Amino acid sequence: MRGALGGPRVLLRRLREVMAERVSAQERLDKVVVLIAANMVAEVCSVYVLRVDGTLELYATEGLKREAVHETVLKADEGLVGLVASEANPINLSEAQAHPAFSYRPETGEEVYHSFLGVPILRAGNTLGVLVVQNRARRTYTEEEEEALQTTSMVLAEMIASGELSALARPGAEPAARHTMHVQGASLSDGIALGHVVLHEPRVVITNVIADDLPRELKRLDTAISTLRSDLDRMVEHRDVADGGEHRDVLEAYRMFSYDQGWLHRIREAVSTGLTAEAAVERVQSDTRARMLRASDPYLRDRLHDLDDLANRLMRVLMGQDHAPGREQMPDNAIVVARSMGPAALLDYDRKKLRGLILEEGGPTSHVSIVARALGIPTVGEIENATGLVEPGDAVIVDGTTGNVHLRPPQDIEVAYGERVKLRARKQAQYRALRERPCVTKDGEKVALMINAGLTIDLPHIEETGAAGIGLFRTELQFMVAPTLPRVGEQLSLYRSVLDAAEKKPVIFRTLDIGGDKVLPYMRNFEEENPALGWRAIRLGLDRPGLLRSQVRALLRASGGRELRLMFPMIAMVEEFDKAKSLVEIELTHLRRHGHQLPDRVHIGTMLEVPSLLFQLDELFERVDFLSVGSNDLMQFLYAADRGNTRVSDRFDPLSAPVLRALKEIADKARKHGKPVSLCGELASQPIGALALAIIGYRALSLSPSAVGPVKALLLDLDTRRGQEAILPYLAQPVGSVSIRSKLEDFAAAEGLQL
Ligand code: PEP
Ligand code: MG
Repeated sequence: MRGALGGPRVLLRRLREVMAERVSAQERLDKVVVLIAANMVAEVCSVYVLRVDGTLELYATEGLKREAVHETVLKADEGLVGLVASEANPINLSEAQAHPAFSYRPETGEEVYHSFLGVPILRAGNTLGVLVVQNRARRTYTEEEEEALQTTSMVLAEMIASGELSALARPGAEPAARHTMHVQGASLSDGIALGHVVLHEPRVVITNVIADDLPRELKRLDTAISTLRSDLDRMVEHRDVADGGEHRDVLEAYRMFSYDQGWLHRIREAVSTGLTAEAAVERVQSDTRARMLRASDPYLRDRLHDLDDLANRLMRVLMGQDHAPGREQMPDNAIVVARSMGPAALLDYDRKKLRGLILEEGGPTSHVSIVARALGIPTVGEIENATGLVEPGDAVIVDGTTGNVHLRPPQDIEVAYGERVKLRARKQAQYRALRERPCVTKDGEKVALMINAGLTIDLPHIEETGAAGIGLFRTELQFMVAPTLPRVGEQLSLYRSVLDAAEKKPVIFRTLDIGGDKVLPYMRNFEEENPALGWRAIRLGLDRPGLLRSQVRALLRASGGRELRLMFPMIAMVEEFDKAKSLVEIELTHLRRHGHQLPDRVHIGTMLEVPSLLFQLDELFERVDFLSVGSNDLMQFLYAADRGNTRVSDRFDPLSAPVLRALKEIADKARKHGKPVSLCGELASQPIGALALAIIGYRALSLSPSAVGPVKALLLDLDTRRGQEAILPYLAQPVGSVSIRSKLEDFAAAEGLQL
């Protein structure tokens, strides 16, 4: 290579020796810059390290003034070095001073150097610092030199990530890598967990970075690529789901990328600068990740994700590791960090050791979130590049209640969270003590507290909470977490085990509530402008009755010799209820004719989630056996505010006069018609919501299992009559402010109720 002494391979070998020497971190860095400068025939070689405060500090230099080391600190966007760091891209200029971003620090004496080559020091796509070479003469660094400098920067990345440089830093100005970090994501499952990081897909740890025999490495690479391709071919052909639940089109994309000449060329080039095949794949992967983190186009990001995955696979082939590594070394308090995960993968972890979950992707309705909630695992999602920010074993706190994640937390945060965990545990113990107590208010009103469920892993909650039954069994969850459409036999067996677990307690099954945002990957989806208002739930069930009928049949058969309670989601007109009910009757007749054992009794009810039903209450109550209010959807439709869009979902308070008037009207009409009514939306799971509901006349609520304790504790101390005296006047009169929340809070405070 032109201009380089001995080429990059000699340099890498020399660097390996320096890394093994027993010298201080500063001496090692000083030797590294001297070696790089000499090898690249550059007058200057400098290392800047990104600090926790976002600035870049000069840590070592050959050629610039020595006094500037640890004194020169650049702002994140200052000069060419700042630009290399923020864009995570090399900058190669023969006349640096002509570049608009050029600026210089007089204390370094760098103004006499014209040519500039800067590369980011990257690890898992994160910028850890910048490595620069400069020359006085206006020279153009070749592509090979640029490549060689990037390869060299990997050695520095290892050094920074290992924490070795922290000893050289002033307090508060430590290297950003491996330092304490607070990130905010989306809360997906409640609770707090303290523990240590386990990467769901462990990074391949490369022990041998520097190649001894170049032709051999190139050959290893070629063999690994052929193996990778034939593995992928086999997986694509092996039906639609393979290898840990990955979907066929994902595998197809991988297969396509494994022939991507640009990608393969970059890896080969990295090998020819002196890296082993696996280190070369990692180098290119780190560039891909850096691009991925900066890409705003979702399609491009997805493709870069695919390339990232493919690189992992290729590294595993090269290192002779299985795709799914063993989990033997799980710490006792594991916080699993994943880009994304299927529900089955989560269930594979040892429940006793799994404390928390952090995901880069995944919304509240994603399948893994549903399972995490059912298992009670605190989970935070939407943490960008979570897998790149952590190292296995790092200490981490997951606050699933607020969506906060603290990586490598400082001691005071850890202590504060430790206290909160203890407090929660004490409260849980108090709630457990209430388990056997019937839920009766101070003035003798019985309130049935039931739980919401949907999977077999929910069933132990009936016993644990002492709930009066299941007030909402979301049957779609079985469909959502399954890789393919559950057969009637599988549905039947789930429903049977639910009824068995509930023993004599009532279970209200809701027929499939799919469509809208509840998408089944294996079913054809229709693009809709407003999915929440679209072809979903009972609308789909009535238009294409095959699926609904087979589900009803499974429910009827599972309830042979017992009582069945079933209800329909998203009913908007009484006629829809009539049609759905007649469908149940047809199935009953069918089963009777075939000699199946029938349920002792079938109670048919409906969810009230669509505001149009508020104006058909009399007609509705004449028809139904019971009614359950779905306040989540009812709220979103009453206020025309998307429940999943945080910009608008918190804009309107459910504890306001319009909502509470509507809910009270439902409870009053139910009483008039002598029909049971309950409420199964999130409102009932908040103590203040349950308080309002008990005051306006609800005597049955269906809650998240974790809410049963706090709600019961509150209701046991409540005098509903006093509550009515204090609150109902605000609903009856024209009110200045429509929010009743503060009135409820005042009442609770005056009565000593724990909200
Ligand atoms: C509701 O809408 O309040 C409800 C309980 O149903 P889901 O949350 O499943 O839509
Ligand atoms: Mg709903």
